[in-house]
Amino acid sequence: MKIDVLTLFPDLVKASLGESIVARAAEAGLIELGCYQIRDYSENKQNKVDDTPYGGGPGMLMTCQPLTKCHRAAAENASRKGFGKPYTVLMSPRGKVLDADTAKRLAAEPYLVIVCGHYEGIDQRFIDSFCDEEISIGDYVLTGGELPAAVLIDTVSRFVPGVLGSPESGGDESFERLLLEYPQYTKPAEFEGSVVPEVLLGGNHADIAAWRLKEAERITKERRPDLYAKYEESAFCEKRIVYFDNSATTRQTPRVTEKVAETASKFYGNPSSLTRLGMLAEKELTNARETIAKTIGADKSEIIFTASGTEANNLALKGYLAANRHSGKKVIVSAVEHPSVLETARSLENAGYQVEYCPVDGRGVVDLKKLFELIDNDTAMISVMTVNSETGAIMPIKEIAAVKNSVDPKIILHTDCVQGYGKLKINVKEAGCDMLTASAHKIHGPRGAGFLYVRRGLRLLPELAGGGQEGGLRSGTENLPAICGFAAAAEDAFRDIDASLEHVGKCRDLFKKLISEKYGGKVTFNSDDGASLPYILNVSFSPIRAEVLLHALESENVFVSVGSACSSKKKSRSHVLTAMNVPVKIIDGSVRFSFSRFTTEEEIMHGAEVLFRCVKELRKAVRG
Ligand code: SAM
Repeated sequence: MKIDVLTLFPDLVKASLGESIVARAAEAGLIELGCYQIRDYSENKQNKVDDTPYGGGPGMLMTCQPLTKCHRAAAENASRKGFGKPYTVLMSPRGKVLDADTAKRLAAEPYLVIVCGHYEGIDQRFIDSFCDEEISIGDYVLTGGELPAAVLIDTVSRFVPGVLGSPESGGDESFERLLLEYPQYTKPAEFEGSVVPEVLLGGNHADIAAWRLKEAERITKERRPDLYAKYEESAFCEKRIVYFDNSATTRQTPRVTEKVAETASKFYGNPSSLTRLGMLAEKELTNARETIAKTIGADKSEIIFTASGTEANNLALKGYLAANRHSGKKVIVSAVEHPSVLETARSLENAGYQVEYCPVDGRGVVDLKKLFELIDNDTAMISVMTVNSETGAIMPIKEIAAVKNSVDPKIILHTDCVQGYGKLKINVKEAGCDMLTASAHKIHGPRGAGFLYVRRGLRLLPELAGGGQEGGLRSGTENLPAICGFAAAAEDAFRDIDASLEHVGKCRDLFKKLISEKYGGKVTFNSDDGASLPYILNVSFSPIRAEVLLHALESENVFVSVGSACSSKKKSRSHVLTAMNVPVKIIDGSVRFSFSRFTTEEEIMHGAEVLFRCVKELRKAVRG
């Protein structure tokens, strides 16, 4: 590897790298270090390299001319030796803070040029034309880039093959496995009454390794909780978190978190306010509405933001019926709806509506024939979810629309799309649904944001009285940060929706294959491959009780669900599996594994390994 440093103080760089490992690496020809004096390339009579900044301000800036000439000279010399275009790094407090990953990445560059700034810094035009990256060594300001360059070279060189001797050296260092290093001791075994931990003196390598890991984990958790969080989810962590509960809620992505924080701090005006700040906030709200509307082929005027999918479902059913009292007295919902629809339907029953619960087949899919039989002239609306939250069964929304249109096109079709949004392509116009519900936190967005699509022309009455936000349908100041986070999450989910579906399909298939190979007919799959979205796999490990398995898995950091998250704390038996005529014994052993587009093959393998261990232990206990 070749590294050239462009500097006003070459001696400073050479002095800091002229000893120890880096010097030996240079001697051994593993790293070729060159230093260029920028001043030598100045075309100014006094060899001047700096000038005053345009616009005023304290101090001087390094000018473009000597830097440019110096950079070209270094690159030409290197090219004569067979090196290609350099990767150029500027040492700068404005850069990304140096870490082990960056050092590792730079160590793979055959030719690195490092530019050291001085004075107040460097003319931006040189940076724009020549620098690929700016790197800082920490949130403080030094007088020049020479010491930062030396720091960078030192840590990069540790990753250059051969520099540290055996490939294992460095393997246990802080940050290598996302952990800080464990405490180390050397002779004597006792010093001024302080003794070395006994385990290190015993010579049992397994015990020593276990002690070191525990200590490294303890220290990292105490001192760097940010690093520890990354470690816990990485493959380095034996007890790493495997999150197979994505249908309950998903982990917010860093981009969404940033968007939420940025919106909260930048756009704090009330979108309903007439002031400039209010208008800026309103513009953000409109952008988010437009983004969301596009994802389902709707117009932005048809999107009503709510605080959750539950709220959107309540508004859809109660709001429509309240505004359209003469449209009929019958409401049809599927028997496997989410409680936010089922409980709303029950409250409608109490209010005098006739509610019919349409059965599903053995795959958990709505029975179209039965649905047709239930529809009559008094039917006001039908509500069927797009994807079932417990089994992943995909409901035939288009066909349901066709069936109800064949009886009466005026019957309203609502779909709770909370488990399908961002995972399946949906076009509300093509699907023929009049209302659709979605929620942000199921697609790596924030909690506290949902929406209801309401076809233009459809009249609803609001559930809440107040300031008349959201076209009068959802009073209350909009949760702009969460809504903008929702839009960002939706953009990301829909960008590669087909690739994500394929990826999750592969993960589900692999998990299912591993389970099938292990247990054959001793487990029951409640999700039908052909009829379900691969994001959910429902499996029964009967006679092991699902809650017992859930907690055993949890103790090994594998997270799953029993039934849907909203109802799983209730002791009642799954209404979904009951509607599918699954025997009670099988229901009681049923666990829901739900994946996301971020699920990895490695997680699937590790999750399966832990599952098998837990099932083995629990089966022993069941047998007694
Ligand atoms: N005016 C600059 C600012 O406020 O960001 C600081 C300039 S500093 C006095 C001069 C030079 O020192 C910089 O151009 C950079 O090359 C180097 N430098 C200073 N602090 C640094 C740090 N934390 N990381 C990397 N380089 C640094």
